[in-house]
Amino acid sequence: MKNNKAIQKLALVMVVLVLVSLTGCANSQAGKTIKPSESADFYGAINYDLLAEKTIPATEGEWDYFYELDEKTTGQLQGIVSELSNSGKTYPQGSSEQKISDLYACAIDLDARNAQGLTAVTPYLEKIESARNLDEYLEGLSDLSAIGQSSLIRYGYYQDDMNSEALMVGFESMDALIGKEYMEDPSMQEYCDAYKGYIQDMLVLSGEDKETAGKNAEAVYAFASAVAAQALSPEEFYDPERYYNVYSYDQLLALYGNINMAKYLETQGLGSEDHYVVFEVEAIKQINAMLTEENLPVLKEYTKFVVLNDLADYAPVAYRDLKLEMAMKLDGSTEKKTDQRLAFDEVESLLEWEFGKIYAEKYFNEKAKQDIKTMVATIIEEYKAIINAQDWMSPATKAKATLKLDTMDLKIGYPDQWPTIGDTLQVTAPQDGGTYLSNTLALMKATRQYDYDEYKKGVNREQWYMTPQEVNAYYNPANNEIVFPAAILQAPYFDENQSNGQNLGGIGAVIAHEISHAFDKSGSLYDEKGNYNVWWTEAEYQKYDELSQKIIDYYGNYTISTGEPVNGTLTLSENIADLGALTTVTAVAEKQGESLTDVYSNWATIWAKLSTPDLEKNYLLTDVHAPAPVRVNAVLSSIDAFYDSYGIKEGDKMYVAPDNRVAIWQTNATK
Ligand SMILES: [Zn+2]
Repeated sequence: MKNNKAIQKLALVMVVLVLVSLTGCANSQAGKTIKPSESADFYGAINYDLLAEKTIPATEGEWDYFYELDEKTTGQLQGIVSELSNSGKTYPQGSSEQKISDLYACAIDLDARNAQGLTAVTPYLEKIESARNLDEYLEGLSDLSAIGQSSLIRYGYYQDDMNSEALMVGFESMDALIGKEYMEDPSMQEYCDAYKGYIQDMLVLSGEDKETAGKNAEAVYAFASAVAAQALSPEEFYDPERYYNVYSYDQLLALYGNINMAKYLETQGLGSEDHYVVFEVEAIKQINAMLTEENLPVLKEYTKFVVLNDLADYAPVAYRDLKLEMAMKLDGSTEKKTDQRLAFDEVESLLEWEFGKIYAEKYFNEKAKQDIKTMVATIIEEYKAIINAQDWMSPATKAKATLKLDTMDLKIGYPDQWPTIGDTLQVTAPQDGGTYLSNTLALMKATRQYDYDEYKKGVNREQWYMTPQEVNAYYNPANNEIVFPAAILQAPYFDENQSNGQNLGGIGAVIAHEISHAFDKSGSLYDEKGNYNVWWTEAEYQKYDELSQKIIDYYGNYTISTGEPVNGTLTLSENIADLGALTTVTAVAEKQGESLTDVYSNWATIWAKLSTPDLEKNYLLTDVHAPAPVRVNAVLSSIDAFYDSYGIKEGDKMYVAPDNRVAIWQTNATK
């Protein structure tokens, strides 16, 4: 799915504390099971009552606090949309108020959407359909790229791993439809078959007869599978050795040897770059092999389907609903969201920074910013102390690590400099002839142009990769920065009415988690300026690898409700971050005399989660974070102070012998 791909891209340039993990069936029926003891299942014990009273909403595949806060934020922003829509006022052309109210008016007028059909995108689709040869097909792709639809020859702009002062163009595999992880796992066949049916239904809707559409769907799926087989796995996207492949202009032309790549690059304004980076070399070789005159029919069908799929949310309702039904099949939800909610979600994503400004002005608690700054400073000091206490690191390496902590940038709430993308986004009111799809295409085109212009301007370290209304956080190795959007600074993560211990177990642990990414398996390979630059001695990094291997094995001993083991390799970097986080906040709480039980119980609370079996399977295959119960229990079982706090002793399920506890940053002498 395109969405999965976007998350991978994000993981490429930064590590995200993204909506994570899953819970076992036992937990989703908490009310019917016996409450476990804290010494047997800490996560289950702490969250027992909470999860017994929560249910997964019918429109969702999961319930957790990310969802709950997102609903709160959505309610606040929907209130703003209603006010604007019902005010009866006319807003100045180009103002946020005008754009939001006019775009929402287009989105919610379903009759108009149905009447307009695909008119706005038809010229693009016709150009693909009528292509008589590869050159003409490539021209069609080039036009689509201008509106942000680059599904086959995909590239993006990133800070250069080897020189964070510069931006680079990075090429990746194509849109992999349902995704590599599903396609390669026999137990996901049911979903893959459903996806083939979905492709067929979309093609039928676009005018093909059922039989033809069925054959085309098979061919499109087979094409995507062949390429997906060569694509990188999520964990490989953490490893610069795998994804950072430098290509000269001539080498890139040779890689795409079956098409006129020189012409394509020229149309993209990218014909004279110093170098290019190819993330997924083998996948692109496979794509190139498929780019033949003989394959033109399947290439055209693939492109048509991806465009319809990408634009379905803004198209006639029949397209939107087909896409929604497929998404529901994947996440196990049973009820469609309302038309109003869908319209809001789409408009919010198209005008995310317009909403971001309004949200930050109206709802951000400025006092929280100061509290978080203080907490970050305390945690960073503690981190330094822990690193300096390691007996396996040399003074020179410790000095480098300390420098990285001292120079780490912090962003809280909302950007100091708002992105100027709003100046380039225009929405035409329905009464002036604007339709939902035509406005959407115009917005996508302007966004594409904005991204290109920003690329040409060079690195902008003020840029945010999340909006203020997003309930999330991230570490960006290219800028050596940690970022906490406004919306995550709420309970249970942070609240001035919670105890300091609870805040340390909530936002404190989230902060320490993000800081830990500076020293996770891949983060540790970047220096304080964000450049890939191995600053460890060989012996030290070998030690790091040994400790990592122990962590991989340790997590592999944990299972989910189906009995399937956690993938310790896929989740390694996130587990290193969780372990480092709890070690650090434990030390801070001890020094401040805060209650450790408050710290640990809130760490369990923030990961409370219910999810459908469908989503549980999805996460086990694709999520770089461990499942929620494991994030809580595996981490705490490796924290010595946790044992004293709860009287955990040998024989308890939460008990792990001291020699078997894992960490990169150890509080005792090297194990
Ligand atoms: Zn993380």
